[in-house]
Amino acid sequence: MSRCLFAVVVGCLVACTLQRSEAAAEWKYRKGTHFIIQYEQDISDNLASDTLREAERFYDTLARQIGYTRYRKFWTWDQRVKIVLYADQESYVRETGLPAWSGGGATQYHRQLKSRAIVSYRQERNFLNKILPHEISHLILADFFGKTPVPLWFNEGVAQLQESGKVAEARRLIAKVAGIGYVIPLESLVRMDVRIQTNQGVVLIFYAQSVSIVDFLIRQHGNRRFQNLCRFMREGLPFQRALGKAYTGIFDSPAQLEEKWLYSVKN
Ligand SMILES: [Zn+2]
Repeated sequence: MSRCLFAVVVGCLVACTLQRSEAAAEWKYRKGTHFIIQYEQDISDNLASDTLREAERFYDTLARQIGYTRYRKFWTWDQRVKIVLYADQESYVRETGLPAWSGGGATQYHRQLKSRAIVSYRQERNFLNKILPHEISHLILADFFGKTPVPLWFNEGVAQLQESGKVAEARRLIAKVAGIGYVIPLESLVRMDVRIQTNQGVVLIFYAQSVSIVDFLIRQHGNRRFQNLCRFMREGLPFQRALGKAYTGIFDSPAQLEEKWLYSVKN
């Protein structure tokens, strides 16, 4: 189950307290070009360094894919994103007020930290491989698209791209459900608000299709066209029209994208 935390957490974090940030002596810091890792004493310096290195790497990869590089100055110096790491789930839940089921979250503006922030805790597998790239992607997309509305599936598709193993996992699921006709038509996917979807099966397929289609666009047709697609959407074109403009001669319509993508997943 991979329902996204971003939308849930945005409102929550802003209201949440972060009590230990006031007791600065309890925190340690590691600073990079675009991120500052703020971590509890119990956390090793190695984990903080790994987190910083991976955060910078995810940032660079996504910035290249969507064409964000010329905006990168917005994330340096006093605009750096704070990544707050608690020693364990217990202190994370206690200090942030976020639900125990959440592995972490991100917000565009954290009142106490006075910056964009990602909060999480030391955990065995998911943080570096999944939560960190996902939440960083959401923050970059929010900056890149600003107030221009972007379909949720596109946002979630891009956010999952750098999660370890996600694309392969999505392809396996789609190959399985496509055989029994459970794929969501692109026309519906573009309009779907998965946040109010109660059928867990549909939620899984929604996330799988989103990342698989975004991956298909980039892998088959390169970063340049994908950057153009993002730019046209940023300028306010709806996805369908931006697609036609960025992929002229490749996809005449969203239906053709759907057809070619599905063919690639099945074969
Ligand atoms: Zn998400």
